[in-house]
Amino acid sequence: MKKYDVIVIGAGPAGYVAAIRSAQLGMKTACIESYRNKHGEPALGGTCLNVGCIPSKALLDSSDQYYRLLNTFPEHGIKAEKVTLDVEAMIARKDQIVRDMTGGIRQLFAANKVEWLQGHGKLLDGKVVEFTPHEGEPERLQAENVILATGSTPIELSAVPLDGERVVDSSGALEFTSVPKRLGIIGAGVIGLEMGSVWSRLGSQVVLLEAQTEFLAAADTRIAREALRQFERQGLDIRLGARVTGSKVTSRNVTITYEDDKGEQTLTVDKVIVAVGRRPNTEHLFADDSNLLLDERGFIHVDEQCRTNIPGVYAIGDVVRGPMLAHKGSEEGIMVAEIIAGKPGFVNYNTIPWVIYTDPEIAWVGRTEQALKAAGIPVKSGTFNFAANGRARAMQSTAGLVKIVAHAETDRILGVHVIGPMASELIAEAVVAMEYGASSEDLARTIHAHPTLSETVREAALSVHKQAIHKAN
Ligand code: FAD
Ligand code: NAD
Repeated sequence: MKKYDVIVIGAGPAGYVAAIRSAQLGMKTACIESYRNKHGEPALGGTCLNVGCIPSKALLDSSDQYYRLLNTFPEHGIKAEKVTLDVEAMIARKDQIVRDMTGGIRQLFAANKVEWLQGHGKLLDGKVVEFTPHEGEPERLQAENVILATGSTPIELSAVPLDGERVVDSSGALEFTSVPKRLGIIGAGVIGLEMGSVWSRLGSQVVLLEAQTEFLAAADTRIAREALRQFERQGLDIRLGARVTGSKVTSRNVTITYEDDKGEQTLTVDKVIVAVGRRPNTEHLFADDSNLLLDERGFIHVDEQCRTNIPGVYAIGDVVRGPMLAHKGSEEGIMVAEIIAGKPGFVNYNTIPWVIYTDPEIAWVGRTEQALKAAGIPVKSGTFNFAANGRARAMQSTAGLVKIVAHAETDRILGVHVIGPMASELIAEAVVAMEYGASSEDLARTIHAHPTLSETVREAALSVHKQAIHKAN
């Protein structure tokens, strides 16, 4: 039997990072990945690179450019006539980015001597891994350590079955070849809002049906309220408290039935995206006699350091508890590789940033004011609007605000919440500040270049102490 120090199953951002770090640390490493792209070619990178983070951001950027050309360029004195939209070219650009990025991981594997085994991996008893290549017979491999990083899959709704044509999941939403006139999205979560933004900017009338009565329940309420206001202003029709009960597909359209507080409703659209969350990939991953333990929600059970109940077997990324975010999985991958190599690996789960790549962008780190208050922690907060920031005005991107929540007695920053331009980049400063245990005064006394969007973060920190310069405190 072939022997490895580390076998990783799954090459998404959790698994491929774990494999590279393991190899960097001198361990003989193999990574088993079963994915084949729409052309049937084996590809590394998992959901994130192939059908998630990267392709969705490519389309968000393309659609943003188109929207700005039509809607905000004229305010800059730039007028364009006879603007046309080539959706197929847009999708082809996205595909090329995916191809380049996934090819990049292949090169990194080669450079780091990570062996890529193309096919399916299954954990057997005694840290033996059964590898079934795409073509060929299963082979047994012996590992000192196994890292399970098999990711997640979209949850399907029995009331609205996917048909791959009119009713699609998030992967299908990245492949439309023309702009649907009317688009229904089930779930106003992260994917619903991002993909809804893409197709709305390109001209679809978008209706989002959300089961919960609270919009973006995980976000700070002030930010969620502002987000709802901005998205509705952009024309997204967000219907809260909508319980979907059925669907009927014809050759021309789809009719969704749902119930809300006014009774039974129907919605007829050209296409539907189902985006109601994701579930962990654990099917066919382990033999019964491996005795791997799952938790009550079907995720692989792990401790704080991603150890499963089997010594020498770890699990990371979307297949374990915690937010389903690429950077969370990657960080766990590094932690586990370092622990295996005898180093002190650690992930600070309190400083994982969240970003929603809408316009305005939404980003946060730490806890919300409502969660802190519910936990009985005394807090004070400060806010600052982008409308009072010179750079935001120059960019014509004045919607939104920064909110900083600090401990009322120690002033330690407990949460930073941003809705506004480049929130995805601005949040990094807050993550670093929180990693170093900064107080809001520390941020307020830090020099920020002028004119930059980051001055809004500083002004929000000043505002915690009612000392903001460019607003009436
Ligand atoms: P995955 O990326 O799902 O990778 C797991 C891999 O394991 C897959 O390639 C799969 O083929 C393989 N595999 C599974 N079982 C086996 C097996 N038995 N044998 C061999 N291989 C196997 N997150 C962000 O942080 N930022 C974003 O902007 C963002 N945007 C997203 C947009 C969309 C549309 C979607 C769907 C997700 C997005 N996410 C984003 C979430 C992000 O993609 C996931 O959190 C991340 O990919 C999880 O990484 P992972 O390595 O745990 O799993
Ligand atoms: P989500 O959990 O963000 O949102 C799903 C939404 O669907 C929720 O608001 C939920 O209340 C609603 N819902 C559930 N069942 C429903 C039903 N029957 N009818 C109507 N609404 C229903 O999940 P998602 O948007 O599918 O994204 C999946 C995961 O991918 C997320 O956990 C997220 O972390 C990750 N992701 C991250 C990013 C990012 O970081 N920018 C982008 C996309 C996806």
